[in-house]
Amino acid sequence: MIFYPHYRKEKIFDITPSFLEKEGIKYLLLDVDNTLTRHHTGRLEQGVKEWLDQMHEAGYPLIIASNSKDYRIAPFAKSIGLDYFALCCKPLPFKLKKGVKKLGCKKSECMLIGDQIFTDTLGARLAGIRVCLTEPFVEEEGTSFKIRRKLEKKIKSRYERKMSR
Ligand SMILES: [Mg+2]
Repeated sequence: MIFYPHYRKEKIFDITPSFLEKEGIKYLLLDVDNTLTRHHTGRLEQGVKEWLDQMHEAGYPLIIASNSKDYRIAPFAKSIGLDYFALCCKPLPFKLKKGVKKLGCKKSECMLIGDQIFTDTLGARLAGIRVCLTEPFVEEEGTSFKIRRKLEKKIKSRYERKMSR
């Protein structure tokens, strides 16, 4: 199902090197808002800095793939020393595919981590890479987000029912 992630974790820091090793994932694409930071703050959430350090130590190449604009993502990416793609237009797969190319890996070795089904999960599926859906740090404002989050809830509960079968 195109709206189902391959994996679900509560937060990005629940993704461990041993999990990645077990699944054969060697490269990571990272969403920013509500995956690494709260929405539009640019500050890493608690535990995320440590997770990034852990990934660097374990030798996982990481690259940012955000739908946000360049002027926001560029300073953020620089502050944590990562390459980035801004204005990714997820769920369109094109920049995610570019990300895979930039990482220089096979699609099968690459995973996107992100908090939204209709951008991250769908985008990764369309790009032919795996995706881990994480839970957002905060609820966003605005009607369109509220609608999307409501639909996501339905998809997530169906997904959970399927997984528990
Ligand atoms: Mg996000």
